[in-house]
Amino acid sequence: MTTLTDRCYDCGTEYVPLAVDDGRCPDCDSPATPLVGTPTVLDVRPIATVDLDSLPVEEAIEVLVRDDTDRLIVYAFAVPSSGVPYAVAITFGDATIRRGDEHWASIEGPECVVDAVVDRVGEPPGRPPAASTE
Ligand SMILES: [Zn+2]
Repeated sequence: MTTLTDRCYDCGTEYVPLAVDDGRCPDCDSPATPLVGTPTVLDVRPIATVDLDSLPVEEAIEVLVRDDTDRLIVYAFAVPSSGVPYAVAITFGDATIRRGDEHWASIEGPECVVDAVVDRVGEPPGRPPAASTE
């Protein structure tokens, strides 16, 4: 299914996906835009992209994905010792969108990332503990 309109996660500009072939927002040139084509999981590893000190958990992982524009996208998940893992930040190239940022809620992770998290920690990602800000 193809959506007619994509939205930049950085500045919120809506655009026609077919107008870009490198995955960059036509307005602000940010690489933080919806995935193009079929993403491929490259790696699942302990977190390296996001500062773990900013997270209230002991463990965190990240899932590396490449999409059809050759962008590297990194999905970072906090893994609480009890409870389900939850996404804390997504990095598109040199742009990171964190939980709580303005356009965070509109980011949808691909199914292959969910599968990778299940493989790694045994649970699919869900909502963060109630104490966290959405
Ligand atoms: Zn933009």
